[in-house]
Amino acid sequence: MKPLIGIPTRTQVDGDLTHYSALATYTRALDLAGGAPVLIPLNLNEDTLGAIFARLDGLLLQGGVDVHPREYGEEVAPYCGEIDPARDATELRLTRWALQQHLPILAICRGIQLLNVAAGGSLYQDIATQVPNALPHPHVQGNPYAFRAHAISIEPDSHLARALGTTHLEVNSLHHQAIKHLAPGFRITARAPDGIIEGIEANHAHHFALAVQFHPEWMIDDDPRMLGIFHAFVRAMHHRNEER
Ligand code: MN
Repeated sequence: MKPLIGIPTRTQVDGDLTHYSALATYTRALDLAGGAPVLIPLNLNEDTLGAIFARLDGLLLQGGVDVHPREYGEEVAPYCGEIDPARDATELRLTRWALQQHLPILAICRGIQLLNVAAGGSLYQDIATQVPNALPHPHVQGNPYAFRAHAISIEPDSHLARALGTTHLEVNSLHHQAIKHLAPGFRITARAPDGIIEGIEANHAHHFALAVQFHPEWMIDDDPRMLGIFHAFVRAMHHRNEER
């Protein structure tokens, strides 16, 4: 059976109307890799959210706006970006349940930041302000989303290196925040040349929780290795289900 992958949505306001949405690139990549993605609404009762979580084989955390700094014990700085508290609440709850139960997690862009905060780490609220001599990491208007902005070096002994089949590659970069203090229970698996963290994984041998700061889903059409990350996630869910 194809594993069921929950994608917590984001608040999208259209005049008087509120939508809960996800970008099509994530559902397409998961579908191509053999997963069955489902979108999870925000602002549900906790027991309703729990009823959905109980049916999931994995959790995908998509990109988006900034996590509220109170979630890692900081005030909102003037250089912090847009915030979606309903999304923070839903994603933090689901991610903490997933960490407790070793449910496979794939986290992308905001997702790596959310995962790090859910597990007890913290973030730079703005790389350009807080990290001297950092490379430009935010999206440049007009560039394609697959535009390769900088290189990354990947730890050879990591799920990420095995999934991609390489320890060095060029990636896109569409973020203005990054991990500051790494959460306990995780290790750094990729960095940009300026030291900014571009990949983390859970240390636990039996928990697949892989996170990247770049967007592999926007690069699968011109670099098939990028789909390898989604394949590794789907394999991890099959593996966990076979063991239970
Ligand atoms: Mn970057």
